[in-house]
Amino acid sequence: MDNKYLSLFNNCVFVNETRNSSLYDFKDGSVYKLDMLNSEVIMLTKKGYSVLEISKKIGMGLNYIMNILNNYVENELGFFSENKLFIEEYKIGNILLNKDISFNPVIYRCFIEISYACGLNCDFCDDEKINQCYLCHKQGEKKINTNGIKKFINFIVNTNCLSLVFHGGDPLLNPELLKEMIKFSRNKGFNGKIFVITNGKNIYKIYDYLEEYHVYYIIPYIDKNYMKSELLSVDEIIDLKNKYNDTIKITKLFTPDSFKLKEEKEIYFDYFSLKNPEIVYDLLKDNKGLGIPKVDANRFYHNKYRHPCLYGNLAIDLLGNIYPCPHMKNDNLGNIDENVIYDIFENKLVEYWNLSLSKLQNCSDCSLKYACTDCRAYEVNKHKEISKKIICPLK
Ligand code: SF4
Ligand code: SF4
Ligand code: SF4
Repeated sequence: MDNKYLSLFNNCVFVNETRNSSLYDFKDGSVYKLDMLNSEVIMLTKKGYSVLEISKKIGMGLNYIMNILNNYVENELGFFSENKLFIEEYKIGNILLNKDISFNPVIYRCFIEISYACGLNCDFCDDEKINQCYLCHKQGEKKINTNGIKKFINFIVNTNCLSLVFHGGDPLLNPELLKEMIKFSRNKGFNGKIFVITNGKNIYKIYDYLEEYHVYYIIPYIDKNYMKSELLSVDEIIDLKNKYNDTIKITKLFTPDSFKLKEEKEIYFDYFSLKNPEIVYDLLKDNKGLGIPKVDANRFYHNKYRHPCLYGNLAIDLLGNIYPCPHMKNDNLGNIDENVIYDIFENKLVEYWNLSLSKLQNCSDCSLKYACTDCRAYEVNKHKEISKKIICPLK
């Protein structure tokens, strides 16, 4: 009994930072934030101390320490043994992570802005939002640099690009231009996913026109009582979903009312059978974000070295300016007409893609940083500092 040792299973990774400690369980993605006592007990456990030794070291009764450690066994995070065991924590090899970014980078999402205009007038259009890359935003009229955008697409489709996201405004207001861009991408050999962000009002008119190009439509949906919205109602979205099925994706806008309007939430979840909406978008006024998400081993090691969201992103606006994200307009990496694309790939993007939370002020000493999310665009637009984070679910 006195010489019992607790070992954590290899899917449990203990992260100890100066501010706090957490235990990540890759089995189901849970992240446990530990209090000081638990943190100390687990640290000593990891160093190979027996239950008795821990009890003496901390100056607390044996039964008390046993009770603490029993919790870990009952929650299937570890097991007792009669001898010290060394269990190596699960790791994912990261040889590629250390390679230079110019080595075959993968573009997960390439945002292409092709319109500023929109036929609707929603009150919240100009509000700052978290995760607004999957939402429309109208701006003043400007003429599109069609040749520049095509030059950019021509470059991108020859890289390892997984998805193109055409957005505005409402790209469906100018179906000919949208078709020209999509057709150009497909003709150049792009066979990844193509998304169009639209308010959805004109989908019936355009769907058949674009069907051969296998396009997905991303439509924002907001609680009916939130400010003045001209977006589609629940019933209109249900009709679209019924008709076009999987090609319609919904961006659910979270607002302060989202948590009050139980009925609306249920309607939403019932009809779409979505435990989680495809994309979560946040207009919450308290800016706490939506909490700490679950994290598996892939996400954990990704976040250790990379920015949780910016990694793999690239964006161009309708004038041909290139950005690390469609809403980081102060971080202009250059204009496509200036032949900057190679320089951007070789030198500039890496700064954004590798901006892990460990490098951010307020997060570097927090053990939750490998699970936490971050919308750099919202943060930078708010406080103008690229390496500072203020939205924190712990506050
Ligand atoms: S549909 Fe989108 S772009 Fe148009 S006004 Fe509403 S929020 Fe703005
Ligand atoms: S925002 Fe930063 S400080 Fe707050 S929980 Fe996430 S990683 Fe920790
Ligand atoms: S930082 Fe990421 S989540 Fe935020 S708007 Fe940009 S791409 Fe979207």
